[in-house]
Amino acid sequence: MQDNKPTSSIPGQSQHIISLVAHGTATTRAELAKRMGLAPSTVSLRIAELTELGILVEDGTGASKGGRKPRLLRLEEDRGQILTADLGSRHVRLGRFSLTGKLMSTHSVAVSIESGPEATLTAVQEAWAHISGVAGLDRQGLRGVGIGLPGPVNVGAGTVQLPSRMPAWAGFPIRDWLEDQLGVPVVVDNDANLSALGEHHASLGPNQHSITVKAGTAIGAGIIVGGRLHRGATGAAGDVTHTRVESAKDNPCSCGNMGCLETVASGAGLVRQLQRQGVDVSTTADVLKLVHSAEPLATTALRTAGTHLGEVLATIVNFFNPDSLFLTGRMASSELFIAAVRSRIYEGCHPLMTQKIHIGAATTGPDSGLYGAAYLVLNRILSDLGSTR
Ligand SMILES: [Zn+2]
Repeated sequence: MQDNKPTSSIPGQSQHIISLVAHGTATTRAELAKRMGLAPSTVSLRIAELTELGILVEDGTGASKGGRKPRLLRLEEDRGQILTADLGSRHVRLGRFSLTGKLMSTHSVAVSIESGPEATLTAVQEAWAHISGVAGLDRQGLRGVGIGLPGPVNVGAGTVQLPSRMPAWAGFPIRDWLEDQLGVPVVVDNDANLSALGEHHASLGPNQHSITVKAGTAIGAGIIVGGRLHRGATGAAGDVTHTRVESAKDNPCSCGNMGCLETVASGAGLVRQLQRQGVDVSTTADVLKLVHSAEPLATTALRTAGTHLGEVLATIVNFFNPDSLFLTGRMASSELFIAAVRSRIYEGCHPLMTQKIHIGAATTGPDSGLYGAAYLVLNRILSDLGSTR
């Protein structure tokens, strides 16, 4: 929270208030107005909405600065829950949040997205029922769910489009199907977008800019401009995996093209490259295991992958000038990989771009996508509340 330029969107203002009260940064109406650069009347409107939702209460009194003692604001954590899921090709990570955005518990289960949407989403619902701690989903306490998918998402329709890794899902009405089953608001978005939102709001202020790169089997990225997700004209913003790079020569890529970044910098690319060198690996996790035991071929390959990714990201940093660049996904568990990315970015950027930039692993780690999903669900609940007035 480095500046106090007002945040324009109503849900954004409400989430900022929740965050400031949660961290104890501002606990009275006057402190919030000052901190957020908003008129006291605007702060009062947002407080009224959050009080109506039952998640903000005003009681007790703070120290007086001359006049009447101000009333203190605090959060109620038990006014309902938000369930989230971050779906990968082979497993799903689930999170249960309070309505104030606090992560209460996580859980992971094996799924296969190739089994199609109905089978996968049924397995996700069973796992949600498990972490919500009741037999069957507690409809009373459940206020909304959010789900991240490893493919391009049409957010307006709640579907995935041109999903190369999940063909059976094309056009399936994911959001509407889940809303029918659960009877609560559902948000569906791309996994890298959710990671970017989650990490941004955990680490930076609402008016700052960041890029979060998810480096796993493929490479995705999410872009946050002034605290808000930039999806682009066709919802594909940040999809850097199919950028052509010199070093990838004519390597065939999963997209049908040749020479994409994915073939030299992703987990899948590393696996293929090491297999050609006679190393026994079949997943990104196998590669990381070898790197952690200092196996020389895997170590060199991972460092080189970081350099290739850094080369593409240097162009993006020069163009976008973000406050932070966060790395997440399985490859970001290696400091060696992050150091290679960082050093290539510093080498390829104008000093003004790197003067203040933070480049490092996402602080929310494997939960970044879950935090992003909870953020969007809470935004949806707050928007729905505003539109019923
Ligand atoms: Zn490609």
